[in-house]
Amino acid sequence: MKAIVMLRGKLGAHAFDLPKPKVSQPDEVLVRVKEAGVDGTDYNMIKHNLQDIAEGRNEIVMGHEMVGVVEDVGRDVTSVAPSDTVVITVRRGCGICEPCLHNQSDMCMTGLYTERGIQKKDGFFTEFVVDQEQYVIKVPPDLAHVAVFTEPLSIAEKGIAQLRTIQSRFPWTCEHPEHDFLSPDWGGCKIALVLGAGPLGIMAAALLRLAEVYTFVADIVSDDSPKVHLVEQMGANYVDARGKKSNEIVDLCCGSSGRLDIIFEASGAAATAVELVNYMSRSSIYIMTGIPQEELLIQVDAAQFVRQIVSYNQVLVGSVNSNRSHFEAAIEDMPAIKSRFGGLLEEMITNRFKLEEYEQIFYSVDKNHIKTVIELEPW
Ligand SMILES: [Zn+2]
Ligand SMILES: [Zn+2]
Repeated sequence: MKAIVMLRGKLGAHAFDLPKPKVSQPDEVLVRVKEAGVDGTDYNMIKHNLQDIAEGRNEIVMGHEMVGVVEDVGRDVTSVAPSDTVVITVRRGCGICEPCLHNQSDMCMTGLYTERGIQKKDGFFTEFVVDQEQYVIKVPPDLAHVAVFTEPLSIAEKGIAQLRTIQSRFPWTCEHPEHDFLSPDWGGCKIALVLGAGPLGIMAAALLRLAEVYTFVADIVSDDSPKVHLVEQMGANYVDARGKKSNEIVDLCCGSSGRLDIIFEASGAAATAVELVNYMSRSSIYIMTGIPQEELLIQVDAAQFVRQIVSYNQVLVGSVNSNRSHFEAAIEDMPAIKSRFGGLLEEMITNRFKLEEYEQIFYSVDKNHIKTVIELEPW
């Protein structure tokens, strides 16, 4: 079967032939990949030649976002059956630390985990994959066409879950008890700024808008960009950050209240991300999910930085990867995203390729590009 791989010691992406995998254990599931998503991690792997190939191998199959259909299951598998639409999680725990031993490999404490398509384990830019039932999650048939977004949405779900858990440290942010961070209506009377209108920023904004958070999304594209259309489709406000200083971006969001409850960083623009800390509100939270590459030195007033975080009770929290529970939350929220924001998810797909077009996939990104999907087999 065909695959897109990185080859040890070689630059770029390559076509590769692998034997079709089979179910060989009672808890295994064989899945035919229908669609696979390409994201920033994949582009960075190619651009910066980030190779993490298993010992004894010369290649790693790329790709960590997918949706597929079950072809075969081992005799102990009960949660999925042949012809079910499914998605597969990415990270496999280290097998040592307690979070990994308790289904929270996204919080691994040793760093010895592996990840499908990224670290040591083969990914999803291929025709068939086998995995254990515990990593395979059934998707309702009516979500099949957008389920390739489950993984990126799960990353946003984890970030939002972190912010709600941490901010539940003070239930009274306004006079409405129902706006407590742990209640279903938690988003009322709250303002958020999302940095970056790429797939993750859009997903985060979608979840914030579902919760009725008054949301701003900042990026560096002009008003006629499809990104701006998506932002407005969710009832969020677009902030054109081109040529603006961090304080000017924040001023546009806070308005008269002077409050900014949540900052969600999904751009990886490191300088802006750090500068924005200076403009956080009292008792607010800053979720960082973008991962910058390369080195970037800026000047920071360290005393002011520390003084402000302490005296304003501020929280800076990093959030990476996601576990099965976040995938399940993503699948649960998808119908609401579909019904509230129309064709948001479908419209995010700006580029479609076949597996054979591997040479173009990683080099066809312009400023209006949002999401590339590789179509392996028609639905
Ligand atoms: Zn671990
Ligand atoms: Zn309120």
